[in-house]
Amino acid sequence: MPTSYAQALEIVLGHVPLLDVEQIELSVALGRVMAEDVLADMDMPPFDKSAVDGFACRMTDIVNPLNVKEIISAGQDPMFIIGPGECAKIMTGAKVPAGADCVIMVENTQTLSENQIRFLGEKTAGNICYAGEDVKKGEIVLETGLLIQPQHVAVLAAFGCVQPWVYRKARVAVLSTGDELVEPYQTPSPTQIRNSNAWQLLAQLAKLPVISSYLGIVSDQEDATYQAICNAMSTNDLVIITGGISMGDFDLVPDSLQRAGFEFQFRSIAVQPGRPTIFATNPQQKICFALPGNPVSSFNQFELLVKPALYKMMGSNHRPIEFFVPLASEYKRNKSERLSMIPVRINRLGEAEIIEYHGSAHINALTHANALMFVQQGVTKISKGEKVRVRQI
Ligand code: AMP
Ligand code: MG
Repeated sequence: MPTSYAQALEIVLGHVPLLDVEQIELSVALGRVMAEDVLADMDMPPFDKSAVDGFACRMTDIVNPLNVKEIISAGQDPMFIIGPGECAKIMTGAKVPAGADCVIMVENTQTLSENQIRFLGEKTAGNICYAGEDVKKGEIVLETGLLIQPQHVAVLAAFGCVQPWVYRKARVAVLSTGDELVEPYQTPSPTQIRNSNAWQLLAQLAKLPVISSYLGIVSDQEDATYQAICNAMSTNDLVIITGGISMGDFDLVPDSLQRAGFEFQFRSIAVQPGRPTIFATNPQQKICFALPGNPVSSFNQFELLVKPALYKMMGSNHRPIEFFVPLASEYKRNKSERLSMIPVRINRLGEAEIIEYHGSAHINALTHANALMFVQQGVTKISKGEKVRVRQI
């Protein structure tokens, strides 16, 4: 009985180990997962700051001409306290002088003489960002588990967290099996095909904070498969094997995995494409995913199971981006025992358009897809306009 996707995901997430942490430089923090909460080491802004270029003065004085006491540039401490009828020319980001409660914008002023200006409007906004109004010293500004994006790098920089603690990168190996495979730069004989899975998987891995290595194509021989698995496991946290897991005479991966000390947590999932997906673990907490040989299955199972496993191992609370959108045209299928993942394109109207798809070997079915649609177990028909769950790819 195949395991449902929900159960399979739960099993995977329940078995993956949490990796160690390490301290890295700010310059390489992008894409890593925070392993500490970052606290603000100062108020932000740290002082009452002018939001505009203009003149700092007292709101009650703006109806009259104002005498300019000084020019305050960003980074400079004001020298004077602003009194009645006075102002200081001030630049964006500079500290607002004591006594002033607003900054009138330079665009709304007229120069009367070298040291005198006049406000041309009737009223003004304050145009002051007050100390601590965005962040208070000691507040948590980034949380453990966060996948660091460019905007988070800005926060690390602003609060001086120049060597953040992050989870270490998972070491992941990719191994292909199949006597019919040659590498993309080789010319296949009439009975061969090029290895596309491994390269697709390496590309999927390249989007994650992992160290991936490619271990090549293993022939469909038991000893070779066993040796390749042992070798891959010795230096990696997780190994992805493709092909060789179905019912064929030369599908030797399951036996080889067992011989290498692996226990299957599941061997088959109720998902189409990708039913014969294996998730196995060993006593050293090494993880193995053995994925079906066809490229669409391999792609999907990476998205559905391997990616969440890797994020979990690296301490991330990252979730895939999913939406509910209307279906652009009716969808029908005959069998409904499995969850189907159907390639779709979200168009400009925000609808899911079904993409021509001939099955898991259809190598370019995903070329124009930007999402996968979930067709749940038991569902045979979805009407045009009905809301469907889609996951961005
Ligand atoms: P298997 O799971 O080994 O029975 O393979 C299922 C199908 O996927 C077969 O048609 C294989 O030729 C094909 N296949 C297996 N591995 C790859 C690969 N690395 N790249 C492209 N196609 C593959
Ligand atoms: Mg094979």
